[in-house]
Amino acid sequence: MKAITVEPKKPGTARFEDFPEPEAREGSVLVEAVAVGVCGTDVEIVEGKYGWAPPGKTRLVLGHESLGRVIDPGPNSSFKAGDLVVGIVRRPDPVPCPNCAVGEWDMCTNGQYTERGIKEIHGFMSERWRSAPEYLIKVDPSLGILGVLLEPMTVITKALEQVLLVGQRSFWEPKTVLVTGAGPIGLLAALRLSLRDLQVHVLDRVETGPKPELVRALGATYHTGSVLDLGFEPDVIVECTGVGSVIADSIQKVGAGGIICLTGIGAGGVTGRATADMAAAAVLKNNVIVGSVNANKRHWYRAGENLARSDREWLSRLITRREKPENFQHALERQPDDVKVIIQFSEA
Ligand SMILES: [Zn+2]
Repeated sequence: MKAITVEPKKPGTARFEDFPEPEAREGSVLVEAVAVGVCGTDVEIVEGKYGWAPPGKTRLVLGHESLGRVIDPGPNSSFKAGDLVVGIVRRPDPVPCPNCAVGEWDMCTNGQYTERGIKEIHGFMSERWRSAPEYLIKVDPSLGILGVLLEPMTVITKALEQVLLVGQRSFWEPKTVLVTGAGPIGLLAALRLSLRDLQVHVLDRVETGPKPELVRALGATYHTGSVLDLGFEPDVIVECTGVGSVIADSIQKVGAGGIICLTGIGAGGVTGRATADMAAAAVLKNNVIVGSVNANKRHWYRAGENLARSDREWLSRLITRREKPENFQHALERQPDDVKVIIQFSEA
């Protein structure tokens, strides 16, 4: 079969190549790839900045935002041939830490977890892949190709759960929510928040392209420019850019008793004075800054339900480009109007 592989930590080594069929020990369910979403992590791995091959191997099959069709359900699963499925990305660490021991691998405390397509387990950018049944989530068949959005939806399902949990620490009646960054994660956050009794605002750099219209279609308000220039103090900010200045402005702008949920990963330091000023603002307003990454099985299950209930036409507008596997390099190149780019292996 063919797969998109990379030698991690070595830039320029990604290729679409012949690759051995998945081994039986990788799981009893055999799946045919339908599509795989591309995100910033894939770009970083291809650029040689991140990623680990499986132990004893030099190359890693890329891809963690999967959608596939079951070819062979194997002897011990409730799946049937033809079912649409997505594969869970993270596996608990082998120790395991207390969180992994109870199935909360997203909260792993020792960092020894593994992740498909990222850390020591082959990903989903191969014509066929295998999984243990307990790490597969069945996709509502009416979603079709839109099932490829399930993994991004898990990230936001967990993040919003964290916000709700933090909110319970006091009497809490949030009215305004700001989402910073109108990429797939930010837009899915806006989608979920727009179903609640909240005024939803989304801020992004771009003034044209599909993002402003996607936000307005949710009944939400689209902004460009600085967070500091907004005419209100958000009760909740879901930060999806990872940009230092946006994070700093968010911490300054959020209202008293506010919650800032950080989901973006950026780089770059901060001065001691800025840290102290941000901390002072958080103390004086009882604010909480909560980081959120990955998702565990209950988030995957709920994300599947949430996606199945979402407006198909709106979801379909998130997928702005489909590329063939042999054109994967093109899929990884960011274009101005991209929201979600997918690599399509077969028809849904
Ligand atoms: Zn762990």
